[in-house]
Amino acid sequence: MKNEQTDILKTAISRLLLWYPENKKDLPWRRALSPYAVWISESMLQQTRTSAVIPYYERFMTALPKLSDLAAVEDDALMKLWQGLGYYSRARNLKKTAQIIQKDYGGVWPRTAKELEKLPGIGAYTAGAVASIAFGEPSPAVDGNVLRVISRLLTIPDDILAPQTKKYVTDLLCEIYPTGDGASLLTQAWMELGENVCIPNGAAHCEDCPLADICMAKAGGIVELFPYRSPKKPRKIRELTVFLLECDGKFAIRKREEAGLLSGLYEFPNTDGKLSAAEAKAYLENLETSPLSLKPIGNATHLFTHVEWHMTGYFVTLKSQDKYRFATKEEIQKNYAVPSAFRFFETYILQNET
Ligand code: SF4
Repeated sequence: MKNEQTDILKTAISRLLLWYPENKKDLPWRRALSPYAVWISESMLQQTRTSAVIPYYERFMTALPKLSDLAAVEDDALMKLWQGLGYYSRARNLKKTAQIIQKDYGGVWPRTAKELEKLPGIGAYTAGAVASIAFGEPSPAVDGNVLRVISRLLTIPDDILAPQTKKYVTDLLCEIYPTGDGASLLTQAWMELGENVCIPNGAAHCEDCPLADICMAKAGGIVELFPYRSPKKPRKIRELTVFLLECDGKFAIRKREEAGLLSGLYEFPNTDGKLSAAEAKAYLENLETSPLSLKPIGNATHLFTHVEWHMTGYFVTLKSQDKYRFATKEEIQKNYAVPSAFRFFETYILQNET
């Protein structure tokens, strides 16, 4: 079985090495293929679609074109560049890693996946991507795209999200991965195929696939059964009440705790629970933030990996700016990294005259 799978993968690799140069999309990070470019783009591409990443990547590379720029950037400026991509610990880890490479490695990148994995925020996938794409090391970068393609190609019956499935696929690839330019091209080819041909949602474009005649799922007419996933646990629900506290055309904003979800970013004041208008007014009065007026502005939901926030919003006019940091809507937009969980509320103040 394993030998048969290895033979199919070897054929797939030789096909992909010919297919990719002819079919690759022109993406900004593919123009240089420096370790910095690969690392930044792969960090942004985790959990975010390519088309959405492009403007973030271009903005980031214009502001911080070199590793040394990233190592020296102010935290708030970094968060602003990352705002909207989510998973903000990634941005913090980018800066930590840049500082370590500058200080401990004399500004010279480690070249192997094993060394790269020792750096903050660099997991097996990103280490493999940087080592293979930028340095031609035979280190596969196995993410959801690669797992999906290979699970269809070989009809792997195991849960695609299980660590042992990932290890099994990684081990298969490690035995036969090319080196040099081949490693660089192959890692990019898996990504390209997974993103544009053997796609995650909707029907795979088997008619455009260079692996169609060797694909076991295609041969069996069972593409839609792969990748296999065990049923998911439902997310926890957290109810929150969010306040847009306005005073003299400015809005209250505060920094979140330095640890935990969305740490160090800015938010609109909020509290646990779904408060009615009367409860919200009483809550604010308890904080000695007596509202002049309070009106409901609707509800918003934000999905994180393991939790859903269900938010109830109120627009509140205050008499004074004693209790919070206040900023105009332009200042909030320009200077404060407000995570997309609060986008509904940020959009509300941007779109409504105060
Ligand atoms: S033939 Fe279809 S299912 Fe198989 S790898 Fe290609 S796109 Fe995916």
